[in-house]
Amino acid sequence: MTGFTESEERQELRRQVAKMASGYGREWFVERARAGEKTTELWLEIGRAGYLGVNIPEEYGGGGGGIGDVAAVCEELAAQGCPLLMMVVSPAICGTVIARYGTEEQKQRWLPGICDGTATMAFAITEPDAGTNSHNITTTARRDGDGWVLKGQKIYISGVDEASNVLVVARAEDARTGTLKPCLFVVPTDSPGLEFTAIPMEIVSPEKQFQVFIDDVRLPADALVGDEDGGLVQLFAGLNPERIMAASFSTGLARHALAKASAYAKERTVFRAPIGSHQAVAHPLAMAHIENELARLMTQKAAALVDAGDDMAAGEAANMAKYAAAEAAVHAVDAAVQTHGGNGITQEYGMAGMLVAARAGRIAPVSREMILNFVAMHSLGLPKSY
Ligand SMILES: Cc1cc2nc3c(=O)[nH]c(=O)nc-3n(C[C@H](O)[C@H](O)[C@H](O)COP(=O)(O)OP(=O)(O)OC[C@H]3O[C@@H](n4cnc5c(N)ncnc54)[C@H](O)[C@@H]3O)c2cc1C
Repeated sequence: MTGFTESEERQELRRQVAKMASGYGREWFVERARAGEKTTELWLEIGRAGYLGVNIPEEYGGGGGGIGDVAAVCEELAAQGCPLLMMVVSPAICGTVIARYGTEEQKQRWLPGICDGTATMAFAITEPDAGTNSHNITTTARRDGDGWVLKGQKIYISGVDEASNVLVVARAEDARTGTLKPCLFVVPTDSPGLEFTAIPMEIVSPEKQFQVFIDDVRLPADALVGDEDGGLVQLFAGLNPERIMAASFSTGLARHALAKASAYAKERTVFRAPIGSHQAVAHPLAMAHIENELARLMTQKAAALVDAGDDMAAGEAANMAKYAAAEAAVHAVDAAVQTHGGNGITQEYGMAGMLVAARAGRIAPVSREMILNFVAMHSLGLPKSY
């Protein structure tokens, strides 16, 4: 990004992704979701075109770009009505962590499949009892000869059924101090002892969330990503990309809803003029558009900071972007539903089907309240509240 305009290359990337995704579109995406089917063709096509791993170094099959590039891909997919959560997880969280901290052998093994979409990687940190307080996770990694044995339980893990591996955050005992420290392990989803069951969710999406049971799953020594003592730092490397991607998911969704609502408001006439001529209809859409453009700007700033290597400043911007984008998406989708009147809650028009996905942006991957806690504490210097 130079100044306030994205590079010509980034803009071209957006155009190409939008063109590809428009060949699939919202109706296709919703049909898949309602039929319990997947979006594999789209996923593999993005992978083949090099967009999925656009942020991953070229020597491992990626495009050698930055997080801003993969965020642009995520946003354009969502703007065409195909928001893909696994974009947030596989290339952005897992891809970033492995590219930054994996050994050479680990990068060679896992990154090419993340880039071309043939070996998607899920990410599992959330646990039923720990929730937001991830310091309280209890999944443990015990040394067993040369390898490891993992035991624990995870919840709301996206796309495990579509993934070849899942990057699991577990706690291992420090041999010197006896304290438990977070470590990251790549676990094949077909490992004996790993089971998962889908959680019935109200989101209209082909991507599902799962409860994951890890019952004495044996792993080789090199399942541990990078350094045993650097787990927390390594985990943090994935958090800014995660937030930037979640923000892009939301801003794309908002753009989709606003485009649909504006088109409808120009056509639909019930008194003398199209409903869009009434400010009561136009203003909520205009307000949501402004909020969304502000969120996009902050998302691009956060991505530029990550790509410049300024992780501290990026942390604040990524949190703010994620907050603003979720709010913008909730307001945009709500206004879009209202604009459509009764049609807003039919399956045919597909507006209400976006409500839960937009709303999820306020909860995951980090809740609105935890972002406000972060900003209150780090940006405003207020006392820690939890
Ligand atoms: C669609 C979806 C996909 C997901 N995918 C994944 C995934 O792939 N991998 C993964 O690991 N996790 C995933 N998650 C889990 C997600 O990250 C968690 O749901 C989220 O972090 C919130 O945790 P929780 O649900 O346990 O809520 P809780 O921690 O129980 O919190 C409940 C409410 O209390 C509030 N709250 C808690 N503590 C405080 C406090 N100190 N101050 C103020 N408010 C507070 C929260 O903000 C929230 O509103 C997903 C969730 C969803 C909904």
